[in-house]
This record gives sequence, C-alpha cells and structure tokens, in this order.
Amino acid sequence: MHYTYKFRLDPNLLTIIFLNKLIGSCRFVFNKLLEIAINEKLYSYYELKKRIVNLKKEYPFLKEANSQSLQAASLNLKKAFDNFFKKRSDFPSFKSKRENNSIIIPQFFKIEDNKLKIPKLKISIPIILHRGIIGNIKSISITRTSSGKYYLNILVEKEIEKLPLTKNAIALDVGLITFAKLSNGEEIQNFRFYKNSEKNLKKLQKRISRKQKGSKNRTKAIIKVAKIHEKTKNKRNNFLHKESLKIIRDNQTIIMEDLKVKNMIRNKNLSKSIQDASWAEFKRMIKYKAIWHGREYIEIDQFYPSSKKCCICGYKNINLDLKTREWICPKCNTFHDRDYNASVLQLKLCLVA
Ligand SMILES: [Zn+2]
Repeated sequence: MHYTYKFRLDPNLLTIIFLNKLIGSCRFVFNKLLEIAINEKLYSYYELKKRIVNLKKEYPFLKEANSQSLQAASLNLKKAFDNFFKKRSDFPSFKSKRENNSIIIPQFFKIEDNKLKIPKLKISIPIILHRGIIGNIKSISITRTSSGKYYLNILVEKEIEKLPLTKNAIALDVGLITFAKLSNGEEIQNFRFYKNSEKNLKKLQKRISRKQKGSKNRTKAIIKVAKIHEKTKNKRNNFLHKESLKIIRDNQTIIMEDLKVKNMIRNKNLSKSIQDASWAEFKRMIKYKAIWHGREYIEIDQFYPSSKKCCICGYKNINLDLKTREWICPKCNTFHDRDYNASVLQLKLCLVA
C-alpha cells in the first residue's frame, strides 16, 4: 500500500532561496513544455521530455537544478495530459507562482536524524517530525504553499495495519446539523471549521480590497488569508481522518449514500454548510480505507422515497414531506428522526440483499 506522510520543513534563508529557485525552474520547465505541446500539437511524453536538453541550452539557469526534478516536472505534465485525454480534468493550464508549487525529488535524497538532504544543496533541512515514518520510502516531494510554508511529502510503501475482525455493519447518513448520523444511534458532531474562521476571513478580504494593488500590506493580508485557509484545511483533514478511521475500525460493512451531496450543493444556501461538512472528502476516505483494511463498502442510491418508511414496522408514511425532520409512526408509535430512520433502513436493506 502507498501512503504519504506530510511534515513541515524548517528551512533557513539560504535553503529557501535554493528551494525557490528549484521550484521556479520546475515550474518554468512545465510551462515551457506545455507551450511547446500547444504550439506544436505535440503530446508525447518522450518527445517532450527530450526538449528539456534544448531548454537547458537556451536557459542556462536550469543547469543549477537537479535533472531528476526537472524530468519529474515533465512527468507531471504527462499526468495532466493523461487526465485530460481520459476526460478526468480540463486541458492542462500554465502554473503560476501564486498557487501551491511543488517539486518532486525521485532519487538521491536522504532522511536522517530529523534532517533532509537533497541533491545540489550542501546544507540539510530540518524536518519537524511529529510522528515516526514506517515503511519503505519511495520518493519525496517538497511543496511551497501559497502562504510561503514548506512541506515535505514522503511517499512510502507500507504493510497494511491489520484491524481486529468485527461483524458490525453500519449505515451513515449525511447531516447538516450533525456531520453524520449512524445507524447504531451515534452521531458525529459537525465541526464548522470554515464558519469559525469566516469572520476573520471577511475582515481580511475587506482589508485586501482597500489596499493598493501590489503593495506590501496587501501581500501580507493575502498571505494571512492563505494561512487561515491552510489551517482550516489541516484541522478539517485531521478530523476527517480520525472519524473515518474509527468507522472503519469498528465495522466490517459500511453503507453510504450516493448523489446526495450533489443535490445539496445545487441548493445555494446549503453549499456553505456542505463545504463545512466536507462530506465528499469523508466518503473518499472511507472508501479507500475500506479497501486498505479489507472492509466492505456499499454505496446505494439516494434514499428519499424509502425514508418515508418506518424502520421498525415498515409502515409507509405517504404524507411525509421533505421539510419534516421528525415524525411518529401512526402504526407502531415509534418516534423517528428522519435521518436516523433512513440510515437504519439503508442498513437493513443492504444486509438483506
Ligand atoms: Zn412503525
């Protein structure tokens, strides 16, 4: 199994200058090759890769960069084209300084004593290691975020952790007020990370709009915004990782719904809350973690029609409209929370099938 560790780097000024140059060179190669591809309608990876030699002659500063990283930049372009031709994404676009920029270092690096050595840089870069690295290191990449932080991504091949066997099955239902309702009656609380930082962001956005374009203070405010976004994203991801692993750890079968997220995003007022909830990302994590750990993941279509059914006695409450969140079954008198009822029904249906 492949796994990526992410650690913050703590480069000194010299290292920062070196990394920025290398990042710039890789971006330059990517953009130049993309330009060639467009102008000459040339999409073959091998043909494009060959052009790096010419680029190095034409732009001598490229010789300062290690060639593996430059080649990896051309590999990134190949991947972007593959995705485009397989209709998984738009036509590749030119990379800008502003976005997150990263460089791949496929070979000749060393990680030792919380320090990273990379080709052509004499000094080593301190790594802020917050946990141990388990597995065989395959390759590394360094990312500079738009707020100017440097991260080390370490791709490792590792054995899958064996989880204790269980016969439990669970259905999850997305919520807006709670993050998810589980068919065992538990709830995952919603952490409104974006909501919490929203006020701050609004204030900063205002400040940015008042500042002169290109001014130092404007740049400062822009970096601050990027920092808030990063922090929020990290917090959110930690939360999603923790919760998804818990679901996988405790259950052999996990049932989730399809489509719902799409439908909800179409409703403009809800889109923010959806962003908060990060349901799609959560589902993605559950899916791949299920594969890693040999759990069964079942996705079913949207559930609206059947959620009119009582999960206890099967009575169909035809008069139930979408706005009603809670109802009492006229036949068996069970009190139902709509989401909870729906997820129990999902679970029952899937286990029978
Ligand atoms: Zn009933």
